[in-house]
Amino acid sequence: MENPNIIRFHLDGLKPYEPIDPPEVLGARVGVPPEKVIKLDGNENPYGCSPRVQRALGEAISYNIYPDPLNREVRQLLEGYTGFGSEYIAVGSGSDELIDNILRISLEPGDKVINCPPTFGMYPFSTQVNGGEIVNIERKPDYSIDVDAIESAIDSRTKVVFITSPNNPTGNLASEGEIIQLLKTNIWIVVDEAYYEFAKESVAQLVRSYSNLIVLRTFSKWAGLAGLRVGYGILSPEINEIIYRMKMPYNVTIAAQIAVRETFTDMEYIQSTIEAIITERQRLFDKLKEQGILDPIPSRSNFILCRVLKSNARQIKQDLENKGIFIRYFDNPLLDNMIRISVGKPEHTDAIIEALAEVR
Ligand SMILES: *Cc1c(COP(=O)(O)O)cnc(C)c1O
Repeated sequence: MENPNIIRFHLDGLKPYEPIDPPEVLGARVGVPPEKVIKLDGNENPYGCSPRVQRALGEAISYNIYPDPLNREVRQLLEGYTGFGSEYIAVGSGSDELIDNILRISLEPGDKVINCPPTFGMYPFSTQVNGGEIVNIERKPDYSIDVDAIESAIDSRTKVVFITSPNNPTGNLASEGEIIQLLKTNIWIVVDEAYYEFAKESVAQLVRSYSNLIVLRTFSKWAGLAGLRVGYGILSPEINEIIYRMKMPYNVTIAAQIAVRETFTDMEYIQSTIEAIITERQRLFDKLKEQGILDPIPSRSNFILCRVLKSNARQIKQDLENKGIFIRYFDNPLLDNMIRISVGKPEHTDAIIEALAEVR
C-alpha cells in the first residue's frame, strides 16, 4: 500500500516511539491477572488519582459538549499553582503534545535539535516526525549535562535544546547556573520538569527574565493522571500566542479538565501521596543498596536507576516479569546493563526485594 511518492521523505525509516504497555497487556504476557501486576516501569503514581476525580468524572454530564479550545479553566487553576498568569501557560494533551507543538512551530526541514542522552526518548522521536535533525550531546559520566559541549554544537541551524530535570532515567537535576548559561545562547531552551513535584526545585521563575525558556510539566506523574493526558508549559506570552494559534483546538478533553479541577480541590491528599513516594524512594534505595544485587543511583524523582552488579539487566527484567513485576531495563552504550525501577508503595518495594533475592 505504501506509495513512496506520497509519504514524506523524512518519515522514511522512522522508528516508532517505544511505549510502555498497559497492565492487561503486561499481565497477559506472563499469565498474571491485570490487578496483580506490579507496574514499576512507567513512573506512574501507584496511589492513583484523587478519589474526588473518580467521583466527579462519574457525575459529570457535559461530555457531549466540546471542551474549551483556550483551556481557560485549567490555565486559571494553574495561575494559582505556578504563580504565572494565564498568558504564560499552555495546556496540552500531555506534555508530549507540547513537545510536538514546540517543534512544529520552530523547525524548518533540516533544522537541528540538541538532545542530551541518556534521557527521555520523546525528543528525538518528535524531532524526526517534524523533519528536524537530532544532535546528541552526551551527558558526562555523572549524568550532568555538558553545557560547554552543547554551546559548541550550536550553529545557525540549531533551534531548540531539550534538558530534562530531574532527568529521566538518571534522576539528577540540572543546576540553575547551567540553565542560565544555556539561555544566553538565545535559542529555545526547553526544561522538562515532568518530575518537579518529587524534586521540589524548578527554574520556572527564569521565564520572566528569559523569553527563550520553556518549562514543561505534567499531571501524569504526581497527580496520577497519566491516562487522561494533561500537561502544561510555562513560557513567554509571545511564544504561547503562537501555540494557541496552531494547536489542535480541542486538545484537552472535558474529562481531563474535570480531573485537573478536582485535583486542585484535593491537594492535601495528593501532597500526602507525593510525600509517601519520596519516603519510599529512600527506603527502596536503602534496601537495594543493602541487598547488593543492584547498585542504586541517588534520585530526585519517583524512580531509581540502578547498575546491575550480579546477573544482567535483561535476565533480571525477565525473572521479575515472570513474577508479575515490571521494570525498565537498558542495555545500550550509555546505559550499559542498567535497570530503572519506579517507586511504588511499600509492599511493592518488599515484593521487588524478595523477587531480586531469587534471581539467577
Ligand atoms: C513521563 C514524562 C513525560 C510525559 O508527559 P505526559 O504529560 O504524560 O505526556 C514528559 N517528560 C518526561 C521526561 C517524562 O518522563
